[in-house]
Amino acid sequence: MNATGSQLAGTICRTVELGVTITDAAVADEFTHLFCAPVIVDSTCADCGMAGRLRDHVQRKVTDLPIVGHPTRLHVRVPRFTCDNTECGTRIFQQRMPALAEPRAKTTRRCNRWILQRLAIDRTSVSAVAKALGLGWDLVNDLALSETHAMVYEQPGHFDGVRVLGVDEHKWKHVRGDGSSSFVTVLLDLTPVVDGTGPSRLLDMVPGRWAKVLTEWSMPVNRCFETESRLSRWTGSPATTPLRPRPFPRRGR
Ligand SMILES: [Zn+2]
Repeated sequence: MNATGSQLAGTICRTVELGVTITDAAVADEFTHLFCAPVIVDSTCADCGMAGRLRDHVQRKVTDLPIVGHPTRLHVRVPRFTCDNTECGTRIFQQRMPALAEPRAKTTRRCNRWILQRLAIDRTSVSAVAKALGLGWDLVNDLALSETHAMVYEQPGHFDGVRVLGVDEHKWKHVRGDGSSSFVTVLLDLTPVVDGTGPSRLLDMVPGRWAKVLTEWSMPVNRCFETESRLSRWTGSPATTPLRPRPFPRRGR
């Protein structure tokens, strides 16, 4: 088998990790279309946990990894069930496909990871990634942002160990009048630098000037921070209350 055939076979085999098996395939223009069905039919109602009754099927189309450089579309034949439990609020539901994609998502989970890898590791442009997937620039950009958000901000331990906060603002936009801030405030965890254990870690980037951002920036913790750059002390208060700034004496005084 040549390299192209091997890559194609590998991609097809790896659809099993999505919980689907390929039933047919077709090529149209630049796109490779793979028609799939769930490996396991699961009729469990998410609301009540009882088994539903098969009603019909719907076809769900999602974008997956490119095959041999061509955009791929998966057409998954998803079973729909009727829940006959009279005490359940759900009447009709589709089989959940957690390994495949988020509910109502237009791309597979692994496709979202692939987008981040191309952008962050290979330094590929958003335009090139969008072209490889056959998607629009805006959608790829939105997917990269939401995937990053999920990887960073939704992690419970995102702020663990933060004792020293680095704050700086940058004027990044020189267009006035569109109503958005031309400044962005960058927030770094400087604790590893102060402790001599490693580099700083990016915590957040928030549109706006630093003073306003820090007044509104809510940290889900009760902590005390010492900023290295702005030399202000921030005392953590309950999670529902914004942090309150107060002057921090300059070093050496
Ligand atoms: Zn139910």
